[in-house]
Formats: sequence, C-alpha cells, structure tokens
Amino acid sequence: MFNVQRSSQRHTLKERMFNVQPTKRQFMAGFFAIVAILGIVRYFVQRAQRLEDTPIVQKDQKYHRIRGVNNYKTAFPDSQSVQIVAAEKWGVLPVKNREDAESRKKELVYVGESPYWHVDRLSSSIPYLVPRAALMLQDIGEAFYDSLYAKGLPFHQLIVTSVLRSMEDVAKLQRHNPNATEQSCHLYGTTIDICYNRYQPLTREVRNDTLKWVLSEVLRDKRNEGRCYIKYEVKQGCYHMTVR
Ligand SMILES: [Zn+2]
Repeated sequence: MFNVQRSSQRHTLKERMFNVQPTKRQFMAGFFAIVAILGIVRYFVQRAQRLEDTPIVQKDQKYHRIRGVNNYKTAFPDSQSVQIVAAEKWGVLPVKNREDAESRKKELVYVGESPYWHVDRLSSSIPYLVPRAALMLQDIGEAFYDSLYAKGLPFHQLIVTSVLRSMEDVAKLQRHNPNATEQSCHLYGTTIDICYNRYQPLTREVRNDTLKWVLSEVLRDKRNEGRCYIKYEVKQGCYHMTVR
C-alpha cells in the first residue's frame, strides 16, 4: 500500500515537471510570486541608492561634526581700517591693467581655476595675487576640501568673486559711481572675496547652509592662526579677506 502511494506520488511529480499544464490558479500564483520577487529586489536597490545619497549627518561617529560659528559678524569683524594696514604691508604698488599684472611676474601670480576653487566671471577685477595671498587661498581651499571629506560631505569648489582691482577697474567703477573712490584693499593683490552662499558642486549638490557652516569653521581657524583678516560682507554675500 505504502509503496503504491509513493510510486503514485513520484508519478505526479514527474507529471508536474514534464507535462506542465498549470491551472489558472497556479498561473496566477506564479505570476504574483514573480511580481513579489521583483518588488523586493526593487526595494533593496532603492534602499542602497538612498543610503548613497544620505548626507553627512549620520549617527556614525566616524564623521566630524559640523559646528559653524555662533555669529558671522562677530566671528569675522575685521574692518577696512584693519585690513588696509596688512594690504599696504604685503601688497604691490597699484597695477595699471591686466598687461601690467602679467608683466610683474616676480610680484604677482595668476590665480585661475584650481581643483579647490572656481573664479567667477570677474567684472571689476583681474585674477592676480601676491604669492603670500595666493598661498593663503590655496591653504583655505585645501582645508575646506579636507573638512568636507572629514564630515562625509560631497566635494564642492569655493567660488572666488573678486581679486585684484587694477587702475582700469577703478576708473570703470568710478564712471558708474563717482563716489566709489574708496582706498580698496583689492588694489594691492592681498585681498580676495569668497562667496558664502554659492559653491560649485562637483558630484551632487548640498542644498542648505551646511557648506556655509563648514567654510566658516575653516576661515575662523585660518584667522585664529593669524593668516588673515576677514570681514563678513552681508550685502555682497562674501567673505572679504586680506593676507597678513
Ligand atoms: Zn572684497
């Protein structure tokens, strides 16, 4: 009896495997099983993508925390009267124009694109600095890069918005605004403006003030090290800084 049952079971199995004629019910069950499997695969793929996109603020302690500064104006208060002293100490004599800057290779270096920063389209300045200021910019760029890495943030370039103002730039500015005769630190090649509200994303963007906080930490440290004087410019949306 037992043997007979087994053989009949074997027979049924064989039948199922080689003579498949699924009923409507079996077909539907198979169909839903495949849909369910695809759904599970999709869930895990999406989850993996989300994890990749998750910004910094993970509970994972291996990333450094972002603290920023308490108050931008008090953290970066260095006014024109403070910065001009350093500008006159380290700067060059007034530069006529771009050609003049290019001919003064011993005094000025070209600061075009770099892995660490992007120079905005300059409307009233040219991209030249005294070597001491160029080195400061390089160090700030590197420190910002390291900081982003340590905090698990995607890499962004800083944006430089103003560099050396030549005599031609000054004349042009005065045509638009006759009162613009200020003895700007930008005349000396010691001073740069770096945006705090725009950054150049290289992979994906970070859409809040995170980068501003990170940059503020970097600049506070450089200022504390005695590398530069910095003014937080509310209207221009930049840090105005002079090497010291
Ligand atoms: Zn400035």
